[in-house]
Amino acid sequence: MSTAKDLSRIERAYMRSDQRRYHVPCPICGVLSPILWLNIEWTEGQLEQAALRCESCQALIPGHYKTSMHVRGVWVAQAEGDGVAAGYHLSALFSPLGWYAWGEMARDFLNAKHEGPEKIKTWINTCLGETREESGEVVKQDILFARREHYPAVVPLPVLVLTAGVDVQDDRLEVEACGWRTGEESWGISYRALWGDPAASPVWRQFDDLLASTREREDGLNIRIVQCCIDSSGHRTEAAHRYVKSWQVRGVYATIGRA
Ligand SMILES: [Zn+2]
Repeated sequence: MSTAKDLSRIERAYMRSDQRRYHVPCPICGVLSPILWLNIEWTEGQLEQAALRCESCQALIPGHYKTSMHVRGVWVAQAEGDGVAAGYHLSALFSPLGWYAWGEMARDFLNAKHEGPEKIKTWINTCLGETREESGEVVKQDILFARREHYPAVVPLPVLVLTAGVDVQDDRLEVEACGWRTGEESWGISYRALWGDPAASPVWRQFDDLLASTREREDGLNIRIVQCCIDSSGHRTEAAHRYVKSWQVRGVYATIGRA
């Protein structure tokens, strides 16, 4: 196991190299991509079924596909580098079938998150093979996501209504649900990325399903999102406007822009 210091030394060398990452083909659509932590999904209480979401076709890929994906993978350079050093990066997400499963990683992640920032840092170092201050976009996304609450959380009892804030990106919707009680006290309930280009309708249908779904409050009462705010500034603005219009017809209040 590498220490943070070892890792940062390795990292410096890696940053000078051509920064290769292993890309594996999706068993459904065949598109090559690296396995990223932000694309690992699971349901609470069913960690052993943690699976990989394909960013291209949205298929949920179970861990037993690992072997066939790994043997057909390729190393892809992410940088020009110094023209001398070839650098290879592989995280624990690529552990062979029967070794360190995605579900075990998720369990360790949840435990680390429970124990605090230092443990999360260690988890990022050892499982993702990254240091926290890493500058690469891929890593930043992983780290951001590692800090997020994984969906779903039980809604605490004082919550009376749920709202959703939606950030529209070119390739996804990021949906954050909040619970509110009187006096404007709020709780973060869940965060979820819905993958797909918001210019097309499939990702909005996923969002429809999410809005239509209910969350169980601690006392067993099911409550749902009653209001949403969609921030589309700069990304897929027209599509977001169309969607908001359709919701207004259905009597749900929505806004464009930051609240
Ligand atoms: Zn796919």
